[in-house]
Amino acid sequence: MKEEHDVKEALGMEFAAWQNFFAEQGEPQYRSQQVCEWLYTKHAVSFEEMTNLSKGLRARLEERVAFHLPALEEDVVSRDGTRKFLWRLEDGETVESVLMKHHNRMTACLSSQVGCSLGCAFCVTGQGGFRRNLAVHEMVGQFLAMERVLGEPVNNLVFMGMGEPFLNTSHVLQSIRQLQHPRMRGLGIRHVTISTAGILPGIRQLAASGLDVRLAVSLHAADGRLRSQLMPINNTYPLQELMGTLYTYQEQTGNRVTVEYLLLGGVNDRPDDARRLAGLLSKLKVFVNLIPCNTGVEGFQPPTKKAQDIFRNVLQTRGFEVFVRTERGGDVDGACGQLRERRSSGKTKRGSRKG
Ligand code: SAH
Ligand code: SF4
Repeated sequence: MKEEHDVKEALGMEFAAWQNFFAEQGEPQYRSQQVCEWLYTKHAVSFEEMTNLSKGLRARLEERVAFHLPALEEDVVSRDGTRKFLWRLEDGETVESVLMKHHNRMTACLSSQVGCSLGCAFCVTGQGGFRRNLAVHEMVGQFLAMERVLGEPVNNLVFMGMGEPFLNTSHVLQSIRQLQHPRMRGLGIRHVTISTAGILPGIRQLAASGLDVRLAVSLHAADGRLRSQLMPINNTYPLQELMGTLYTYQEQTGNRVTVEYLLLGGVNDRPDDARRLAGLLSKLKVFVNLIPCNTGVEGFQPPTKKAQDIFRNVLQTRGFEVFVRTERGGDVDGACGQLRERRSSGKTKRGSRKG
């Protein structure tokens, strides 16, 4: 019988936890490496498959360690190759992950929460409210389950799916430690990014963690009043304090910060908005990602191509490195939260479905 208080989840255990587990079992230390190889490289879905462990040891693992992977509910492939997954968790909740291909590099976009409490005006996930935080094994599980479906390794990871990673910081950081650990998944350093709406304690915690993770900040407005209208979190952590925290973060880590700026037609896309953004960022080393918004939430639409070009030019002529994120997976509910929202409201949409 698994007792409630000491049931561990296989994908929620750090390497040291495996070492302790096998030490307690009187097993040699290399067992940790063997099990982690099955979990993180060979994509096992049960202890039963781990044939280089004795039957007795597999039985003890079954008894003492739970092993859950997210169950594939839906897998949609977009015309541009973006692939979107909807997973069902043990308690019946669903979350999304997205796989994107850029210049032959695969990037996995993971969710950190079921829903989100921050209620940004333009975001489908935000409109649906918050359900719960994801556990470590549910985030590691999204990544490994995607690799398993894909049949090849994914080498980049962003926390840019549903939810606010810095309202679930300890679980998110532990997932990253596991996926980066050389004896677990061994994800390359500098290949992980956390995107935050600007939760200052989380940014400070990341800086102090010493983890090699890139930081992306969803700014979306360079004016405090407008930002508060779009992102209510700006009332708790106002723009000026956010900027102060980013300066400190940069001093501590030396890392460039990615600034995400959603382009919302008629809302924040005028040349004046671009000049204000340039002014705000003048003392920070940044990459700027401009994201023409998806049309998921009523009242918001992307700017014209011309307005996008003008906005980008204002920044580029002031020396900023700017990328315009082309809309990806638009035909398969590309912005996170939309696939789940469509499922729960019973709407249907075109796209090739698998699984
Ligand atoms: N909560 C974190 C990370 C998840 S949101 C954050 O806000 O940064 C991930 C990204 O999805 C954010 O950059 C957000 O701006 C973007 N997003 C939300 N709604 C969108 C929409 N309608 N169109 C395009 N991107 C959207
Ligand atoms: Fe939450 Fe990010 Fe959506 Fe805002 S944009 S509601 S922070 S998921």
